[in-house]
Amino acid sequence: MLTTNYLIINRKPQPFESMEMDVETMMFMDESGNIIDVLVLDDSVFAALYCDEVRNTTLVVYSDEIRVITILWASDAEYEAGRRMIADVVSVPLSSQNKKINRYGEELAKKLADGVKLQVIDAVDNSAMVKCPDCGMLSPKGTPYCMDCGAELP
Ligand SMILES: [Zn+2]
Repeated sequence: MLTTNYLIINRKPQPFESMEMDVETMMFMDESGNIIDVLVLDDSVFAALYCDEVRNTTLVVYSDEIRVITILWASDAEYEAGRRMIADVVSVPLSSQNKKINRYGEELAKKLADGVKLQVIDAVDNSAMVKCPDCGMLSPKGTPYCMDCGAELP
């Protein structure tokens, strides 16, 4: 079992003592309270993965490129607090990336082992989207046919 929290960005792990969040940033601090890393989340976070078994949290961030940020928590309490903080704060308006995200989520769901939960956070402003009656894929209103299965959209 871990005794220290770890933040892994681009496969580079670094230890941290605590985390703070506000609307658009996550700050990671060492034991003296010095900031060791700051992540700007803006509206590019589209998925959060949690695994209760190994107490890790993964954020999938898409801006210019896809980045995967994993936080390994040293205790159940920190894991729970961190997980809740992220779920409460991160809210993402997305539109054109829906298809990609949906596919990505499906692939993740297929591949991930038991005990891993997938949450796609507030992925869509549904008022601007129409749902395919056949496959459920969301497309922008006014799209004549489903991009996924080709069914006619209402
Ligand atoms: Zn469809």
